[in-house]
Amino acid sequence: MAIVGVLALQGSFNEHIAALRRLGVKGVEIKKPEQLQNVTSLIIPGGESTTMAKLAEYHNLFPALREFVKMGRPVWGTCAGLIFLADKAIGQKIGGQQLVGGLDCTVHRNFFGSQIQSFEAEVLAPELASKEGGPETFRGVFIRAPAILEAGPEVQVLADYPVPSNSLLSSDPSIENAKENVEEQSKVIVAVRQGNILATAFHPELTADTRWHSYFIKMANENEEEASSSIVPIEVD
Ligand code: GLN
Repeated sequence: MAIVGVLALQGSFNEHIAALRRLGVKGVEIKKPEQLQNVTSLIIPGGESTTMAKLAEYHNLFPALREFVKMGRPVWGTCAGLIFLADKAIGQKIGGQQLVGGLDCTVHRNFFGSQIQSFEAEVLAPELASKEGGPETFRGVFIRAPAILEAGPEVQVLADYPVPSNSLLSSDPSIENAKENVEEQSKVIVAVRQGNILATAFHPELTADTRWHSYFIKMANENEEEASSSIVPIEVD
């Protein structure tokens, strides 16, 4: 049975472990740096990124998390997890919080607003349908959700979403640099893949639909296969 690590400092880690269990995959809680040695893939859940970052700092997890990403191990960040993985985060409440980075994106921490602006919507993700079967759309659960405003050339966009009319575009000065890009597109990115990094602004672990988890498990399994096939057997006379 495959094993997936789930960062278990704060947020919806239990829900991720439950979703993995429904697919017959064991999710193990990661709370300390040395525990990352026992897993070959990792989910960073949603929650509250500043709190999660403080706890990660307290447990000295940042160097090990960065190393894990750098090694090319499959990592999936949902919501606050997406913020963790971005190379750059903006938003009014960013106060020098550490990031893991690795994902060539600028993310806005609270692009879709505060708790009361949380929403659910059908979102199109053709890649999900082609890889996992079933419909091309999924139910996106957006809770104080971030959005990707700019993405580098290596980043594959899996889903985007229209900019809401009440968006922060006109009121948040930190968006200034990305504003033109967002206004031109009139949508923002909410799911991406860059090599072994998967990142989603919504919470699939809070729905009964396990296709995003299947997608990630497939990424993890493919990575395992590649790793084992690249081990050259020693020739014995
Ligand atoms: N916007 C939140 C943050 O900054 C993330 C919300 C979530 O993970 N549901 O951490």
